[in-house]
Amino acid sequence: MTTDHGYPAVRMYIAGEWCQGATGSTAPIVNPATEEVIGEVPLATAADLDRALDAAREGFRIWRATPVTRRTAILHAAAGLIAERAADLGRISTLEQGKPLAESTGEAHRTAETLRWHADDARRAYGRIIPSDPGTVLTVRREPIGPVAAFVPWNFPVGGPNRKISSALAAGCPLVLKASEETPATAMELVRCYADAGLPAGVLNLVFGEPAEVSAHLIASPVVRLVAFTGSVPVGKLLAARAGQVMKPSLMELGGHAPVIVCADADPVTAARRSARAKFVNAGQVCTSPSRFLVHESLVEEFTAEFVKAAEAVVVGDGREPATTMGPLANARRLTSLERLTADAVARGATVRTGGARPERPGYFFAPTVLTDVPPDAELLREEPFGPIAPIVPFTGLDEALATANALPYGLAAYGFTSSAATAERLSDALEAGILSLNHCGGSVHEAPSGGVKDSGYGREGGPEALDAYLVTKRVSHLLAP
Ligand code: NAD
Repeated sequence: MTTDHGYPAVRMYIAGEWCQGATGSTAPIVNPATEEVIGEVPLATAADLDRALDAAREGFRIWRATPVTRRTAILHAAAGLIAERAADLGRISTLEQGKPLAESTGEAHRTAETLRWHADDARRAYGRIIPSDPGTVLTVRREPIGPVAAFVPWNFPVGGPNRKISSALAAGCPLVLKASEETPATAMELVRCYADAGLPAGVLNLVFGEPAEVSAHLIASPVVRLVAFTGSVPVGKLLAARAGQVMKPSLMELGGHAPVIVCADADPVTAARRSARAKFVNAGQVCTSPSRFLVHESLVEEFTAEFVKAAEAVVVGDGREPATTMGPLANARRLTSLERLTADAVARGATVRTGGARPERPGYFFAPTVLTDVPPDAELLREEPFGPIAPIVPFTGLDEALATANALPYGLAAYGFTSSAATAERLSDALEAGILSLNHCGGSVHEAPSGGVKDSGYGREGGPEALDAYLVTKRVSHLLAP
């Protein structure tokens, strides 16, 4: 069933059945480009969550006993369906999240590739045999940890939920996934791909609800063995603490405030073009988005001029319009934050080189913004903007730039531009980040790990490391002769 907007009726998926919550309570879903209500999301009660937990317990029994060749085949079939349905997933994602269609459809295609990668990696969750005494077989086995409670936000409505689902399922773990109440239909259609691919009932359960209530309930349940969260640092700390109280490990993919260091020997035009392109992807609502531009003083004017040119070339509009290259912010909270951060920086002496305000139109739009003369005490240089704002700050020596880059409690992504191999090695060595890109600002790739250090969290997604959090290690020492 779909609405006038071509938006599907949202359902939860529990024990292999599409359902509404036990009480029928819902919350509205808003198109951020128009501020119109386009649907409603069902909210789970404690009884719904208990059904999902029971299903996951049973799902674990089924999924861990399913031969890995069969598990891999189901995951590949789901990847095929995601690719086949990419246009529809993209359309729904743009309706509820706002990003341009090309970005949301591209995300769906990349998601299918990520899933294929994890499906193949399911076959490589090797243990090892350790040389031991004669008559003794000493092995190390890697086993699925058990049911996972996963929580994902709204910025990548296809790729975000799938990162948790594909790693957990590849490792042999079932999930109760709480996707964002702001982008629920994309998560629902993603889960439908797995269901249609033949995933047994109970292995993947999708719920929505009041986030704090859902997470408290799921984390406390003895069924859940791992807590996996992507989102903000404060919420991550809260959930990790809760998990710790009941001795459960957690995987925390949290926010950052990524520095870009443009060294004196870099080409300022190339650096500005490449970092501006990354800055405005998804309207800056990416955990690895470049967000503090530290530019050598000799290049800063040329860099700024080129960055402003790139910002002014961005076509802001409804993501459904083919010409749009940047959609609205995903929700009203982001708009309020960006207005606050800009006003604070300007009040402290910053200069708005372009943008700086919301355009006169409905929707949560905010103009691509470049600020210079931003003083070190501006909130924008300490708080992750999660939006299309670029503060540009000059530096004199590399030591100073590295100290500024590392001064915050975050450590997710960092970027550097230099033509010197020696300087590149220095940046690689000194920057406190889990993800470093040199001479480009490319996004995540499924074949390599992503994750943070310091307050940006722990654990990795992507690469062979993606399965680590979902597997436990068991030592088996077997004396052959009685
Ligand atoms: P928020 O902190 O309110 O929520 C972040 C996410 O956590 C949302 O999906 C929300 O539903 C969920 N959440 C909130 N409280 C929860 C709880 N008690 N239990 C379980 N889940 C809970 O922030 P927001 O306004 O949605 O987003 C703003 C900030 O979040 C951004 O500034 C950014 O720092 C961060 N964020 C990070 C990522 C990322 O990819 N790391 C993605 C989205 C948002």
